[in-house]
Amino acid sequence: MFKKLIENIINFLFPYQCLRCGKILNSAGYLCDQCIEEISFIKPPYCYKCGHPLQEENIHEKMLCAGCLKNKRTFYRLSRSAVIYDNSSKNLILAFKFFDQTENANLLAAMLKIAGKDIFSEGADLIVPVPLHYTRLIKRKYNQSALLAQKLSEMTAIPHNNLTLIRSRKTKPQVEVSGKERLTNVKNAFKVKNQKLIKGKRIILLDDIMTTGSTVKECALVLKKAGAKSVDILTIARTV
Ligand SMILES: [Zn+2]
Ligand SMILES: [Zn+2]
Repeated sequence: MFKKLIENIINFLFPYQCLRCGKILNSAGYLCDQCIEEISFIKPPYCYKCGHPLQEENIHEKMLCAGCLKNKRTFYRLSRSAVIYDNSSKNLILAFKFFDQTENANLLAAMLKIAGKDIFSEGADLIVPVPLHYTRLIKRKYNQSALLAQKLSEMTAIPHNNLTLIRSRKTKPQVEVSGKERLTNVKNAFKVKNQKLIKGKRIILLDDIMTTGSTVKECALVLKKAGAKSVDILTIARTV
């Protein structure tokens, strides 16, 4: 009774606002109906391995896309993203990345929990975010992927660690370099500090946006070299 009263007062003083457009919401939540409509959530059918949306009508279980059938992409086990990276999802992610919108982290982690359901049912032992270089960490105040890892860990009860996979040298932000250069930009840019924490574990590698996949590939290879049993990739958004 008392708790309900407090809740009502808080809701009256701080009504829920859509995190994307700022509109006041009628009930508890993060996004207004219109924003939910506009964001391109990735839904089935999609490739069981890489998570790329598929056109197929007669989908059978664990269907693969042409790319995955041709190229085994052995550096990871499964890859999933919650939304397609486009103009509709961009501001949601950028707001989280560059401003203090930690409230956004709850929404994004909830989206990751849905997007990653195949990964969780295959089994996972540790959530590891893609590390930021410390100079960028200072500029942005916090590592958004580490914050996401913490939230997702709370929601799934899978432990997380953001101190063992680290950046060993400074790289340019991937958005500032062109396609081919992206691979060399991140080459040997990461290392595992404590191999014991990684050895034999099924790792979920977490990042915000995946474009060419060069960053997650480099991280996955480093984790595998450190003895990871498998690496799954989970990102908020991906380009298609
Ligand atoms: Zn909205
Ligand atoms: Zn695929």
